[in-house]
Amino acid sequence: MGQIADNLAAIRATLTEGVELVAVSKFHPVEAIAEAYSAGQRAFGESRVQELTAKINALPSDIRWHFIGHLQTNKVKQVVGKAWLIESIDSERLLSLIDREAQARGVVQRVLMQVHVAREETKFGFAPDELTEYFRLRKFEGLQATHLCGVMGMASNTDDEARVRADFEAIAHLRKQILEMCPDLRGFDTVSMGMSHDYRMAMEAGSTMVRIGTAIFGERQY
Ligand SMILES: *Cc1c(COP(=O)(O)O)cnc(C)c1O
Repeated sequence: MGQIADNLAAIRATLTEGVELVAVSKFHPVEAIAEAYSAGQRAFGESRVQELTAKINALPSDIRWHFIGHLQTNKVKQVVGKAWLIESIDSERLLSLIDREAQARGVVQRVLMQVHVAREETKFGFAPDELTEYFRLRKFEGLQATHLCGVMGMASNTDDEARVRADFEAIAHLRKQILEMCPDLRGFDTVSMGMSHDYRMAMEAGSTMVRIGTAIFGERQY
């Protein structure tokens, strides 16, 4: 076995039952993804549209691509129907454009709502109260061809474990709160949180999907 297959096996052995592993392959070459694919991995995460498109064209069609980066509205057409799951919905406008494109293509696009709880990290994502407001007003009822599958988030990038744990708990709690408000939401099940350095804590806080890059593929060359 190669290093990537070894890393995958080691990580899989640590996953809580039912937690899905997304191998974050951004900035890594097609050959690295092919090795992970040979080791049985089918879900991969990419953060840039051009790179995603090139990799889709070069790799087997049964790969489930997760789009995890900020999606610019002018690139929606290139991702809808190609990504199995768009994890990074960070505005209502983006969601409407995705819905319109999915309708035009006759597909149903799965998405996650990105929530911003970390102190200093990315500026992308809904604030928790923005997100609950979206659901309280039942704005999702306007969607025709988009399936809201849950939430995605990141913890603060800090050594303070209590802080990281609290961030993960806040993300998982939000999904519950939304479901309590809208018990008729179907399949709003996914809590995507946890990366190479913090996925164990994320699983303890209720993650159902971890996004792991470095621990599988090694350091990225930017
Ligand atoms: C890059 C990235 C990851 C993977 O991070 P690693 O530290 O390499 O495991 C996970 N989630 C998102 C949103 C990312 O952009």
